Amino acid sequence: MAPESQADAHPPNRDALPRVTRLAPSPTGALHLGNARTFLVNWAMARAAGWRIVLRIEDLDGPRVKHDAATRAIETLRWLGIDWDDGPLVQSDDLSPFVEAMRALAREGKAYPCALTRAEIEDAASAPHGASVSMGSGQPGGESRFPASLRPPLVPREFDDPETNWRFVTPPGHVAFADAFCGPQRLDPSETVGDFVIWTKRGQPAYQLAVVVDDHRQGVNEVVRGDDLLDSAARQILLRRALGIAQDPVYTHLPLVVGEDGRRLAKRHGDTRVEHYRERKVPAERVIGLLARWSGVTDRREPMTPDEFRERFSLERMPRSAVVFTSEDDAWLLG
Ligand code: GLU
Repeated sequence: MAPESQADAHPPNRDALPRVTRLAPSPTGALHLGNARTFLVNWAMARAAGWRIVLRIEDLDGPRVKHDAATRAIETLRWLGIDWDDGPLVQSDDLSPFVEAMRALAREGKAYPCALTRAEIEDAASAPHGASVSMGSGQPGGESRFPASLRPPLVPREFDDPETNWRFVTPPGHVAFADAFCGPQRLDPSETVGDFVIWTKRGQPAYQLAVVVDDHRQGVNEVVRGDDLLDSAARQILLRRALGIAQDPVYTHLPLVVGEDGRRLAKRHGDTRVEHYRERKVPAERVIGLLARWSGVTDRREPMTPDEFRERFSLERMPRSAVVFTSEDDAWLLG
């Protein structure tokens, strides 16, 4: 890859607007220690810099959303000492802003309905004339690259069939942005994912559209989240532009917490839910102490209050790569 030229090294651009960030849990399961670290860092950055914090419950992830998980996520955040200024805004309460956005995109010929199955798309992508590579399940959300050959004529449409998947017409070329933690990025979604799904046949917006619409209507201009979503930022920037949203937010993508096998924290690593430790009477200060050690705040294992974490946190000292949740960490938490 060619070295980034000076012109490409856009520093994060914080305009004069008041800064607003969001905590956006998906109630698809309980918060684990990795999610908690991202939320705590987001909160500490916001409180240290005077950003407003809005809470948003991202409950449009169809079948994966669990009853009660939103209430429990809110309780867990509160227990950790994380607070917010506004919300929760619950995405499923009102779909009209997403429908409005779909109407605009469809009318401008920037979105189209697509009833093709995943198998049909993968077949087309691997056909000799397809000239495109299937990215298989390596893509976020297990999405294959959608080959341009399957795109219908781009004409103005009515958004009249919300029971079908709709795709975004991904424009060709690089998207450049400066991540406040990961540095300058140049990504080309037209090469990696092609036209991606923005509305699902369940009659709901897909994650990429929901995030863009909500970040915009909530005035969010500081996005702090796990670096598993770094690729998504490029898609979200393209969608913002297509919807006429002038400014990109400042993105801060943080490395994830992984298990001892190097894979992202999940059920296979045992019970890493914050609630699991809470139920075992582990004090919140002990959990925060471990999150602090994972965030470059301290080298030791020491209990810490949220305020101490906030005062001592600095993004410069955040570990540059994934941190590992070890069995010693678990034993220390359980004391
Ligand atoms: N709801 C997403 C999650 O819990 C975060 C989305 C975002 O920050 O853009 O992983």
